Amino acid sequence: MKVVYHRRYCEVYSSDPAAAPGRIESIHEELKEHFPYVEPKPAAQEDLLRVHSQDHVDYIRSSGLAYEIALLAAGGAIKAAELTLETETAFGLIRPPGHHASRGSSWGFCYFNNIAIAIERLRSEDKISEALIVDIDLHYGDGTADIFSSDSQVAYFHPEGATRQSYLEELKRYLAVRRESFDILAVSAGFDRHQQDWGGLLQTEDYHTIGKMLKEFAQSKCNSRVFSVLEGGYNHSVLGKNVKALLEGLS
Ligand SMILES: [Zn+2]
Repeated sequence: MKVVYHRRYCEVYSSDPAAAPGRIESIHEELKEHFPYVEPKPAAQEDLLRVHSQDHVDYIRSSGLAYEIALLAAGGAIKAAELTLETETAFGLIRPPGHHASRGSSWGFCYFNNIAIAIERLRSEDKISEALIVDIDLHYGDGTADIFSSDSQVAYFHPEGATRQSYLEELKRYLAVRRESFDILAVSAGFDRHQQDWGGLLQTEDYHTIGKMLKEFAQSKCNSRVFSVLEGGYNHSVLGKNVKALLEGLS
């Protein structure tokens, strides 16, 4: 397990909770002794334009600092996906998040759809064709779902169970009935469903369980290729521990 990280992710580019001071640092503190780090490069224009309209890219560019950090976040997702193909699994400790970014618009603290940009980059290089995206954020990734809605080669799944047990069972059942295989499993890793976060549902150990389920699925159906990127998660006192639990499950 490698962690893709850039110190510029700590910069406060906006007043939203994903850009809050100390958020990335709280995760970095938990991970830095346990995993090797890799630094990404910003995404290129062509990477953005495989997923987003020119108008949307121009609009985000006008935001200045947020655009610079958003380019690095998309580049971080690409790096995590590439590492997964080359050697081993990787996690993008990135922000801003991406799953509420559609082709021509974005909301919910998102600018560019990091995970879609990573998948389209690999597809443009013929490194993969079919992908499964599992989104464990509290919120439905409408941007990701929109981008791939008419693409039969990319599946999107967002479990929504109302209790801790039903949530884990829903994910387990979904993975168990998939007969097809994929070239890569991409995980939109949001942690805002934790008991002490907005969703008030999952415990820290559940992220370990989820990581293990996803890893086992990747081993049997995705050639052991799985990468994850940070989406939501806003309680800085538990966020780092939750990320670490997921990564240990995935390792
Ligand atoms: Zn969320």
